[in-house]
Amino acid sequence: MKILVCISHVPDTTSKINFTENDSAFDSNGVQYVINPYDEFALARAMWFKEKQGASITVITVGNAGTEPSLRKALAIGADDAIRIDAEATDGFFVAKQLAEVAKSNGYDLILTGRESIDYNGAMVPGMLATFLDYNFVNACIGVEIENNTATAIKEIDGGSETLSTSLPLVLAGQKGLVEEKELRIPNMRGIMMARKKPLSVVAAIETEATTKSVRFEKPEEKSACKMVAASDIDGLIDLLHNEAKVI
Ligand SMILES: Cc1cc2nc3c(=O)[nH]c(=O)nc-3n(C[C@H](O)[C@H](O)[C@H](O)COP(=O)(O)OP(=O)(O)OC[C@H]3O[C@@H](n4cnc5c(N)ncnc54)[C@H](O)[C@@H]3O)c2cc1C
Repeated sequence: MKILVCISHVPDTTSKINFTENDSAFDSNGVQYVINPYDEFALARAMWFKEKQGASITVITVGNAGTEPSLRKALAIGADDAIRIDAEATDGFFVAKQLAEVAKSNGYDLILTGRESIDYNGAMVPGMLATFLDYNFVNACIGVEIENNTATAIKEIDGGSETLSTSLPLVLAGQKGLVEEKELRIPNMRGIMMARKKPLSVVAAIETEATTKSVRFEKPEEKSACKMVAASDIDGLIDLLHNEAKVI
């Protein structure tokens, strides 16, 4: 089975978020980047297929040279080769078009993505990718088994789960639960050394227009300071909860 895992290179969740250009652009100064956490679940599931059933794993990203450490980390975890499509990923449509172009020419049985990127949270790429390729698609996936050409996938639904049967080729957007957290991989020294020798090819982007543009970002309101109430002051606590926090 040929598996493609789409990797989005996103700010670390502990990063301080600031905007520039009149709050219309993300300020990447001093920001540390990591593999999108949902993509780590996808990669771990791909590794499971590789080890249990036999599969080749290619990882791919649309991004500039600064995204390569995330690809190298995926190679260190166990992917066989990597592709970087050399372009700034400025919107979901653009990214999906680029990924589809490479996927079309290489022919994958299974394309694993995250449910959403944790930076712009567009959740646009996987569905569009499946559409451009005319592949089957399962979103919000929390489990998958594949036998011959048939995939049995479990997806999260409001308050429960749904089990679906579909056929390959398939785009599957994964999330927490696709593997258990203890199955997430941390590269070891051997993996890091081997990753240096694994192929990472850089391909040119195709001509495609972005269809969305950020106009303005707004941060959530700062949380107010914690107020301490004496244990004996029940009336004061109720007053604060009722009149200030407005939760009762
Ligand atoms: C300089 C710059 C400007 C930007 N301006 C805008 C803007 O104006 N408007 C806007 O909406 N967004 C903007 N973005 C963000 C950009 O749209 C997203 O990073 C990217 O398109 C992913 O879209 P998404 O959030 O819909 O991904 P999602 O659909 O949420 O991601 C789901 C999954 O798709 C895959 N995926 C997502 N991105 C990539 C990628 N780059 N390579 C490989 N796989 C990927 C991953 O598996 C990911 O888990 C900008 C980004 C940059 C760097």
